[in-house]
Amino acid sequence: MLPDEVMEIAQQEMLDWHGSGMSVMEMSHRGREYTSIAKQAEADLRELAGISDDYAVLFLQGGASSQFSMIPMNLLRDKRHADYFNTGIWSAKAIAEASRYTQVNVVADAKPSHYQTIPDKALWQLSDDAAYVHYTPNETIHGIEFAEVPEVGSTPLVADMSSTILSRPIEVDRFGLIYAGAQKNIGPAGLCIVIVHKELLGQTLPGTPAMFDYKLHSDHGSMYNTPATYSWYLAGLVFQWLKRQGGLAEMAKINERKANKLYTAIDASDFYSNPVDPRYRSWMNIPFTLADSTLDERFLTEAAEQGLLSLKGHRDLGGMRASLYNAMPEAGVDKLVWFMSDFERRFG
Ligand SMILES: *Cc1c(COP(=O)(O)O)cnc(C)c1O
Repeated sequence: MLPDEVMEIAQQEMLDWHGSGMSVMEMSHRGREYTSIAKQAEADLRELAGISDDYAVLFLQGGASSQFSMIPMNLLRDKRHADYFNTGIWSAKAIAEASRYTQVNVVADAKPSHYQTIPDKALWQLSDDAAYVHYTPNETIHGIEFAEVPEVGSTPLVADMSSTILSRPIEVDRFGLIYAGAQKNIGPAGLCIVIVHKELLGQTLPGTPAMFDYKLHSDHGSMYNTPATYSWYLAGLVFQWLKRQGGLAEMAKINERKANKLYTAIDASDFYSNPVDPRYRSWMNIPFTLADSTLDERFLTEAAEQGLLSLKGHRDLGGMRASLYNAMPEAGVDKLVWFMSDFERRFG
């Protein structure tokens, strides 16, 4: 979801942005107007997340999936291997891509638990001299989330925050690189945000395409080529909306409350269940199943009639999945909980 308030501003500004006589979509990305939009969005993101000048903030295209290859190309440097946590489908994809460039050491593997828990810290096998350690703080499909930032010593820590960025405060200084496709928790598709420590720039593997070099994008203010201007603008409106909500500490309180309401409802019922280890349950993506899966279609149809949309589970898991991203209001969760209890009363 996107906040209604943000879409209404975009609607008002659609044909004529701030008296410029142009839509944002019609502006040259190098013009004065668009430059101000782009700079403001970056400044607001830096303020929201507490990003210091030691880090470059890049507004790229190609999605989080492109980062699966850009990260090894830029961060391997002269090292022989990289460490990866495998905690779900997105980690596994990142590992598959990195394996094209280097030896991947799997620090901890959640696959044997069907991605329902994260192996205990005592079992982690961090290697010596890894180029970086990669993990996925929130696995969007399995609804499993690290409870804290993993402790990895001085090795740069890389995080795929696609489905959790800005849902709570971020300790940016603990990371070498953070990346996120914008379409889950920021704005519309087409934009990918990368926050990278400047020390890690400028050491790409030989043969790295220009467009895959973070330093080149950083040197050009993410305008080496034409960026996704409209998505960048809308992301900027979302950053301003987040500031008006009270920032990330406030979002954390709201998001935790939203998730707790839904888990409480699921756990209180024999009709619904969520398989994830309660210590690692996601605030953002909550998969659940019905005791009788022949009722799935009916559940989805009736939910849609109530305005409760996009509840169908990922095709790999089936069942349902509620994504409670930042813009999903608490009242929406209340309505879902009410609907679930009503449905159970009638069919359970
Ligand atoms: C959605 C998602 C991706 C893929 O993002 P694209 O922008 O479609 O490439 C990667 N990682 C995580 C954690 C995701 O949720």
